[in-house]
Amino acid sequence: MDQPVFDHRELTLDDVFEFACYPGISCFNLCCYDVNLVLSPYDFLRLRRALKIPSREFIEKFGELHLGDVTQLPVVSVRMNVHDFSCPFLQKEGCSVYEDRPSSCRTYPLARFAGRDEEGRPFEIYRIIRETHCKGHFEKRPISVKEWIKEQGLEPYYAFNDLFGEIVFARNRLDRPLSADELDRIYIVCYELERFRPLVESGELKDLFSAEEIESALNDEEELLKLGLNWLKKTIFREVIQEEGGK
Ligand code: SF4
Ligand code: SF4
Repeated sequence: MDQPVFDHRELTLDDVFEFACYPGISCFNLCCYDVNLVLSPYDFLRLRRALKIPSREFIEKFGELHLGDVTQLPVVSVRMNVHDFSCPFLQKEGCSVYEDRPSSCRTYPLARFAGRDEEGRPFEIYRIIRETHCKGHFEKRPISVKEWIKEQGLEPYYAFNDLFGEIVFARNRLDRPLSADELDRIYIVCYELERFRPLVESGELKDLFSAEEIESALNDEEELLKLGLNWLKKTIFREVIQEEGGK
């Protein structure tokens, strides 16, 4: 697989680029080989639920669990097939998990850079990725970044990724190593909600969240993930987030 090249241009939501991808295009599926497919907690939730298997089974069958090089936070990536480096979800007809494909697959051929700058101000920019195998760039279909986000169903992914991004930002500001217990808490929220749920059910978090928040978390997995990420912010990263003026 050739190395991706990023356009120098930084796009914002109203900027327009030209691209189309569809079954029948000559490069169909070529982008699903040898991919460094890092799963955000929300990517993971969507895929695991689509496949109707428990988190641990998902990781055993399809994932690789490691500590992020920069963040030193637990992260799960998709393990490519050893024989041909294809994504395990790729079939001849295309992506077998298309409705629940990860955010990076949806965002491609864009890459999103969002977070906070050194002064703590939020930013969100996009850059076009150019790879020689991808012929979608030659399709004369203008589309704005904002329209692409809507078309690809990215809104909930970005909302969760931004929430997780606050944790990454706080982690980078935390001037100490994380303990084994803290790493485990981060791991269960991000990649094993089945182990976080009993903690919520036990009432242990009732001083940090309202009864309504706890009830909706117990009735809805997205809300459970949201509660979990906020729990990490309010406990492990509380000091850093308070210093930054956050909640
Ligand atoms: S998840 Fe689907 S779209 Fe993404 S790399 Fe795998 S097969 Fe391709
Ligand atoms: S146009 Fe690009 S994104 Fe679409 S199938 Fe071809 S290589 Fe993949």
